[in-house]
Amino acid sequence: MKIVNTHTGKIYVDTDHRLEFLTVGDYGKENNIKADFLGLHKEINGVQHKTVDLTQKWVATISTQKGCPMNCKFCDCPKYGFYGNASVAEMAYEIETILKNETVKNTDRFNVHFARMGEPTFNPNVLAFARDNLRKLVAKYIEAKTIHPVVSTMLPKANSHLTQFVLDWCNIKNIDYRGEAGLQFSINSTDDAQRDYQFNNRSLSLAEISALAKMLPHPVGRKYTLNFAVTKDTVLDAARLTELFDPNMFIVKITPIHETNSAVKNGFDVTTSYDDYDVYRQFEQPLVKMGWDVIVFVPSHEEDSDRITCGNALIAEINQKTR
Ligand code: SF4
Repeated sequence: MKIVNTHTGKIYVDTDHRLEFLTVGDYGKENNIKADFLGLHKEINGVQHKTVDLTQKWVATISTQKGCPMNCKFCDCPKYGFYGNASVAEMAYEIETILKNETVKNTDRFNVHFARMGEPTFNPNVLAFARDNLRKLVAKYIEAKTIHPVVSTMLPKANSHLTQFVLDWCNIKNIDYRGEAGLQFSINSTDDAQRDYQFNNRSLSLAEISALAKMLPHPVGRKYTLNFAVTKDTVLDAARLTELFDPNMFIVKITPIHETNSAVKNGFDVTTSYDDYDVYRQFEQPLVKMGWDVIVFVPSHEEDSDRITCGNALIAEINQKTR
């Protein structure tokens, strides 16, 4: 297994298991987040790199699949191919490897994002792992005041079990974790044609996602999240979003689209988004005026230069070996 050091953590690149997983710290929400509803009012015009402290917040991002059967236009992972679901034991292995390789023994917050390679809703092992294994596993290695798992889904059309998965995850969030878990829907645009392009026609329509959203139980703890990875060309119509989703159930999270090779090749404008708050303000303010809770999250240039997006490290490693 190869370990790639990044500015804020490490990427584990395991060609034998066909898995890639990541451990990072965070700059602190006052440095990289604007969220009026949380009292964070400062506009983020670029993020300064600084040393991170895992005892405050520790983020593990693990693969739920070996490669990915989706084909999102902004993601490099599909180039790796697809080799099936990660088992419960393999997800445990990803978390254990991350925990074993740090000297830190306690943290205020341990976030686990099921968001590296793969679309998590295709893998029912994610539900079993989060419900039955994760907390015991973490407790074996560190003392974490909060353990917070998050599922991020691209809402695949081809998943006939999607509704059941999402409802099961809501129960895990609301009951097993008493609210300390997250559910994120990747929406990216309020224009179906723009979404269809980005997700290569493999994600549900906005009307279908809205219907699914109406089936969810009221969230315990944090609301559910609608993710928008934006460029300045993104269509984010606040009125349309309010027709589709209930601001009492969901918040909106705005991030820039990462500068992946695929995003560049497919014409996404990934260059202007980091230092200039204007790009974010045009999306944030209309939503705030319509009563939405909005988080704008901005990475540093250092984080983006680490290419910590799905599949990249594994693809680079394979290319090197076959050269
Ligand atoms: S963004 Fe996620 S779902 Fe889409 S291709 Fe990449 S890994 Fe798969």
